[in-house]
Amino acid sequence: MKISTDMRFGQAKSLRRGHRTVVAGGAGFIGSHLCDHLVQRRDTVICVDNLFTGSMRNIRPLLNHPNFSFLHHDIREPLSIGGPIDRIYNLACPASPRHYQRDPIATMKTCVIGAVNVLELAKLKSSRVLQASTSEVYGDPEMHPQHESYVGHVNPIGPRACYDEGKRAAETLFFDYHRTHGVQIKVARIFNTYGPRMLENDGRVVSNFIVQALQGVPITIYGSGRQTRSFCFIDDLVRGLELLMESPSDITGPCNLGNPEEFTIEEIARKVIEQSHSASELDHRALPEDDPKRRKPLIGKATTTLGWKPKVSIEKGLDATIAYFALSIATKNREATVASIDSARAARERSLRRREAAGRTEMN
Ligand code: NAD
Ligand code: UDP
Repeated sequence: MKISTDMRFGQAKSLRRGHRTVVAGGAGFIGSHLCDHLVQRRDTVICVDNLFTGSMRNIRPLLNHPNFSFLHHDIREPLSIGGPIDRIYNLACPASPRHYQRDPIATMKTCVIGAVNVLELAKLKSSRVLQASTSEVYGDPEMHPQHESYVGHVNPIGPRACYDEGKRAAETLFFDYHRTHGVQIKVARIFNTYGPRMLENDGRVVSNFIVQALQGVPITIYGSGRQTRSFCFIDDLVRGLELLMESPSDITGPCNLGNPEEFTIEEIARKVIEQSHSASELDHRALPEDDPKRRKPLIGKATTTLGWKPKVSIEKGLDATIAYFALSIATKNREATVASIDSARAARERSLRRREAAGRTEMN
């Protein structure tokens, strides 16, 4: 009997419980949501991260969980983890242009040497390994929307190249380990993703706009604001990553994961202003070099092979993200107020002690 992909995938899904899973980059924005999800699915999760852009705050609730452990490690160094490993997700790499351009040589090494190290671990342990690749492999695309067969239009020497070319080289390594050593690979090409736990200062458009709107300062639009992106909410992406990882072994990708609804950057700014009830105005700034003009995924492959498509509307996703940043800004302001009261009290006590000491000296 010929077994259809759907049947095999259905079986794979129902068998999927209790893997021992490594999440490299697990303390970052996407990685920490993935760790939450996998622990809930009863996986035993080993989160590997050097905290370059990740934070212990993102994984704090998991730290006491018996099925979760954290390994402070840089994936540019070989990975040595005892015991069997069923699954490896490689998300370790800064994703925001501000951070990946901060140390471009480190970014390229993280992409390339990091990929070799996770692939070597996968080869040693016969694990399945998923690479968090990116829509940036399409560069500033001349084909719109982008299908997986499009080979891209990337400037190899520009400021984004450390990331774009690094991710392209990582894809090459994944497919060569698959062809040469039979490693079971999955390559996800992730399009712009947003949601709670993005860093307030990471420079990406959704977090920037929301923080600016909540603070009532001008919204910084780079260039005309007519460039487009397609934004996927984090919960949808995590579901897509897991479905791809658990798909039959002949499905390697690359597979686009993103929300095909396309918006101009100015439209996103206006939505954020409206949904956060902000009085902020738009402030146009220079467009960064090599900034892609249009980006929108074709997701037919994910829909037919994984049964995946995004469910969360931009309005719902923005509401959840605005609520997250509103709380995090309020908490920070409260902490800053408490810290300034504490430091004023400490200064008063120090001056009191100095005056008392001076009084004692005079009496002597
Ligand atoms: P992030 O910066 O929040 O997370 C990256 C994590 O990797 C951080 O915890 C960071 O500390 C860790 N890391 C970086 N270099 C490392 C190294 N050398 N060794 C170990 N850990 C290291 O970014 P994110 O948005 O969560 O993105 C996660 C992955 O998804 C990245 O690989 C990124 O390229 C990919 N991706 C993200 C998006 C998006 O829109 N968020 C889009 C496309 C692709
Ligand atoms: N952008 C903007 N203002 C900001 C941050 C970003 O206009 O404060 C623009 C940026 O130039 C780009 C788009 O928003 O055209 C998405 O930028 P982001 O850095 O979030 O992601 P990427 O360019 O990697 O898709």
